[in-house]
Amino acid sequence: MTRFVSVLGESAPYSFGDAVLAGWASDGGMLWPETIPRVSPATLHAWRALSYPALAAAILKLFISADDSDFTHAEVDALCAGAFGRFGSADVVELSTPLPTSVTGDRSVRVAELWHGPTLAFKDLGMAILGRVLSHLLRRRGRRLTLLVGTSGDTGSSAIEAVRGLPNLSIFVLYPLQGYASITPVQERQMTAVAEIESNVHVFGVEGSSDDLDVPMEACFADKQFKARHNLGSVNSVNVVRLIVQTVHYFYAYLRAAPPGATAAVEFAVPCGAAGHLSAGLLALEMGLPARLVAATNSNDALHRLLSSGELRPGAAVRRTVSPSMDIQVPYNCWRLLYAAAGADARAVRRWQADFRSGRLALPESVR
Ligand SMILES: *Cc1c(COP(=O)(O)O)cnc(C)c1O
Repeated sequence: MTRFVSVLGESAPYSFGDAVLAGWASDGGMLWPETIPRVSPATLHAWRALSYPALAAAILKLFISADDSDFTHAEVDALCAGAFGRFGSADVVELSTPLPTSVTGDRSVRVAELWHGPTLAFKDLGMAILGRVLSHLLRRRGRRLTLLVGTSGDTGSSAIEAVRGLPNLSIFVLYPLQGYASITPVQERQMTAVAEIESNVHVFGVEGSSDDLDVPMEACFADKQFKARHNLGSVNSVNVVRLIVQTVHYFYAYLRAAPPGATAAVEFAVPCGAAGHLSAGLLALEMGLPARLVAATNSNDALHRLLSSGELRPGAAVRRTVSPSMDIQVPYNCWRLLYAAAGADARAVRRWQADFRSGRLALPESVR
């Protein structure tokens, strides 16, 4: 059975369905697969024939055992087959032709177009599946769920589109008001306009940065009684469905960029905020994808400094930029990156998280 464990190592493992509903583990840690399924070169080659939804189903089924009590594999297939109907491209993800070599030199550089979803954010790729997974789980278990989402722009509207009108689910979205972060009027209206017409959608503007609004959100999730009473769940990049489903476009783009039989790794440049997308890339690598990752940040570069110097400090002020989805100074998925880099050493992650909370984390050179 595929299980998910806390990177802090102090809660019992979760089944896929329990992990999806929990968001964070009960010890406050992020969840990561206990064992990572390996994709053989033969399987990778066979995946060339799959459509995007079929590839998403194939990858999800690697993490959901055939005897899972929440999902049959046929249900996973059906769920993925219907998830991308509102995308503007039948291929779901398109790869551009190579950029002009006058710009790229002797490298072949292509753009993975992840923006064909209903809100035009790449997050639609993960959310489209997550909304359906949640809806299925809640129906199966006869439960209600209250989603709590903090957003610096894109996640909120994407999550809202994925769950609006679904029974058994309500969603509360917190976003930084204009003046506190660079959320655009369009992003704001993509959320507030839906909140006016859907009774399960609630949207609040907050006087603070996106890091500021993570503080009350984390406190809600850390309060076990509050969390249980309101059946709190998360669709932020902590959710394991997004972690898994965001590996799909790495595989899909790889298969379209690398000719059959190619052995060279494909390099992915990943725009990073909370580093959820990057941790999914790392998961894809651990599954066997022949790729390298380049983590890109804007001037909110805590992740860059962590990777280049091994240091992470809390409390740096968030700078407003033209890429608000990347205006994050605490790349909280780094605990997943560090857990994987340290060979699943939860004690080390606990120590590093304590160091970070008390002012400064300095990684050993080997882990960096
Ligand atoms: C969410 C988002 C990011 C950052 O992704 P993370 O998983 O938070 O690192 C970067 N660019 C765009 C356009 C986004 O929507």
